[in-house]
Amino acid sequence: MLPHLILILFLFALGACIGSFLNVVVWRLPQIEHDPNDRSFFAPVLKTIEGLSNPPSHCPKCKNKLKWYDNIPVIGWIKLGGKCRFCGQSISPRYPIVEFLTGALFVFYYVMFFMLQIGPCAAHPNLVPHATLGTLRMVPRPLAFLIDYPIYLLYMALVSGLLASSLIDAELFIIPVEIPWVLALLGIVAHAIIDKPSLPGALNASAGGAALALGGGIGLIISIVLFQKGILAQSFPDGEPMQDVDVETLSPQGKVLDYATPEFLDPPKPPEMPTRPMSRRELAAEMRKEMLFLLPPMVLAIVWWSLTTFVPAIGRVWAQAVALNFFSGLTGAILGALVGGFVVWITRILGTLGFGRLAMGLGDVHLMFGVGAIIGAGAATVAFFLAPFFGIAIAIYMLFTGKRRELPYGPYLSLATAFVLLFGCPIMAWLTPGASGLALMIRELLHGGAVAG
Ligand SMILES: [Zn+2]
Repeated sequence: MLPHLILILFLFALGACIGSFLNVVVWRLPQIEHDPNDRSFFAPVLKTIEGLSNPPSHCPKCKNKLKWYDNIPVIGWIKLGGKCRFCGQSISPRYPIVEFLTGALFVFYYVMFFMLQIGPCAAHPNLVPHATLGTLRMVPRPLAFLIDYPIYLLYMALVSGLLASSLIDAELFIIPVEIPWVLALLGIVAHAIIDKPSLPGALNASAGGAALALGGGIGLIISIVLFQKGILAQSFPDGEPMQDVDVETLSPQGKVLDYATPEFLDPPKPPEMPTRPMSRRELAAEMRKEMLFLLPPMVLAIVWWSLTTFVPAIGRVWAQAVALNFFSGLTGAILGALVGGFVVWITRILGTLGFGRLAMGLGDVHLMFGVGAIIGAGAATVAFFLAPFFGIAIAIYMLFTGKRRELPYGPYLSLATAFVLLFGCPIMAWLTPGASGLALMIRELLHGGAVAG
């Protein structure tokens, strides 16, 4: 019991410090302005890092630098009585609340994973390890912190990123792309390093999954380059129309911006959006641009998969590459990112074409891209389809508390992902027979087709 207690105290403190950083991210990230004419890749990255670190924490009213001990999470705010040491201006209680919440989440997942054994699981060695679908996991093995801390820390990075993007999304109806991109990078690097089939939460891809990931990944890079060069057109060049959410909640008077107490002279502004509803025809034209963007990744994924499946010489080399944990982990994470983003994007395109009004934001596409790189293709897809249930739950809560405030989709996706981190294993074990049956059927069909042809 004692080692648990020491770890819990340590992880709470660690989480609270991360929460302190999240406050900075939530407050400053939407304010960083990028030069739209700057097409280089690294300049915006440097600008983001600089914007987050400068200036050092200070009172927004009197500009005095905070003492280092005022910056201690939660405790600093309580000792100051929620007021600036120099000018007495009140500091929003939201700062210590976010710090406490992050610390509490770190502890919550520790207790669930390592004390109650509810969390990621690994494939059973005797049960087709990763032969059918890359990310299906069957049987749990006990989690131990000293062995499994890498996956725990990776998941906590995800939880932190989701918390920050939910707070920003709930207020400003945007998800800064920097957050999911950092998550995607973390997921891909971490899974390449730590994954092996016996590790709970590992994403080691099958040969087919790895082929789809590599082809799709190369296709995505091609699309991004063509987009940067202006060959692929940007959809909604004047900003996306807000049709699903009440535009009034975005007006400066109607907005609830806790950070924007009067001392903040320059609160972040919600992005300007055309309020005129777009016609079905106009929307369809924008969706065609987005389908064109998706074409290279889809075509290359299928081409690469076909080459490795139907050309025996390539297939043999490919199988050897995928046998390396480094390579199957890397491609498993890439596959997760691609599938996570693709499921949202295709829903957006089909929903918009079908209902004649914009469904889902591109921010949600980015978000699930980052989520998928960490939890994998199967879990990200499950989270996406669970998200509406969390939307309903929150709507009922708001109905009873009398708070009527529209929320964008990001927070629901985040809640569903936080849920899948805990219960993804049993859900996917339950879905596995159907999914492997489907894979088997497809394989039989293709095999039969190849023989007949
Ligand atoms: Zn002050």
